[in-house]
Amino acid sequence: ATVGVPRERGAGERRVALVPKVIERLRGTCGGVVVESGAGLGALIPDDLFVSAGATIGDPWACDVVVKVAPPTPGEIGRLRPGTALIGFLDPLVATTTVAALREAGVLGFAMESVPRISRAQSMDALSSQANVGGYKAVLLAAERSTRFFPMLTTAAGTVKPATVLVLGVGVAGLQALATAKRLGARTTGYDVRPEVAEQVRSLGAQWLDLGIEAAGEGGYARELTGEERAEQQRRLEEAITGFDVVITTALVPGRKAPTLVTANAVKGMRPGSVVVDLAGESGGNCELTEPGETVVRHDVTIAAPLNLPATMPEHASELYARNVAALLALVLDESGAVAPDWSDEVLAASCVTRRES
Ligand code: NAD
Repeated sequence: ATVGVPRERGAGERRVALVPKVIERLRGTCGGVVVESGAGLGALIPDDLFVSAGATIGDPWACDVVVKVAPPTPGEIGRLRPGTALIGFLDPLVATTTVAALREAGVLGFAMESVPRISRAQSMDALSSQANVGGYKAVLLAAERSTRFFPMLTTAAGTVKPATVLVLGVGVAGLQALATAKRLGARTTGYDVRPEVAEQVRSLGAQWLDLGIEAAGEGGYARELTGEERAEQQRRLEEAITGFDVVITTALVPGRKAPTLVTANAVKGMRPGSVVVDLAGESGGNCELTEPGETVVRHDVTIAAPLNLPATMPEHASELYARNVAALLALVLDESGAVAPDWSDEVLAASCVTRRES
């Protein structure tokens, strides 16, 4: 099978689904890689590096497999031939019209979001590889916006206390945020509704904030809180948040609007000059005053809700993503390099969101 790599056209999307290093390793396992001219430019990879890695420059949409980063637009879906396999983020729980259009077009669609979070599939876990970028970058943004130092400073002019950083929602992005804030010298605290996270938080040298609300759901994800639990959580967080210089929020529940963890009142209670970085902006945000995609100042507190942070580090984000895609591609193809998914494989069965009935 041939594998096509289109240029991503979404605003601000600088990633590319395969990079030269990974294409080199695909040699012999598929029938060749076709890259759209300019596909790597956002990640500063010129066409000739793809060619040196063994790819050709041409029309990726004519290939047997198309690999993408962002979900396809209706125009892109129109270019996919029936029977083509598509691998990429498809946002299947939210973008139901995209999924319906792929099914209608007879496309074999594999969603990176639906790869099960099991040990064997770790190499294909694109949610994790990209969440790491987000968690890291969120801390840098917070430090940049903060009116205060992160590390403790002992100088001839006196001593500055280290900043206190609270991370709400400690999945992959949250753990990376805690680790990054620690490296910058901050005093860190983590909070989540999944109790098993406490140990991971402590292992990063952070304190665990226990509010006594547990909401572990299916597949290692959190469940949505009941109205009562939500009110209780918001009330307790309002008290806790006042003591922190920086709050980074990453709380998500698959397929739902992001939970509100930081109320307007909580922001009001923060010291002037404090910073909230809300990584849940794409799902509506974890802070009541969040404006997705914007940085606003409310009650002298900066609230930043950057969208698609992984695209702001296109080189490493693409490299990690490309390895995830190549690992899933290896399952989709058989030994002769043909598209022949083994549906008894739980990774393929779970990640496939559209499939032509035969
Ligand atoms: P996510 O992005 O879906 O959510 C981020 C965090 O927000 C989660 O930790 C969640 O518990 C938390 N959250 C949701 N609602 C909340 C609320 N109301 N209050 C506070 N916190 C709330 O999570 P993720 O980073 O994708 O991780 C999801 C799961 O996948 C975790 O269990 C993680 O350990 C697991 N995982 C497993 C593997 C693997 O084994 N291969 C790899 C990566 C992640």
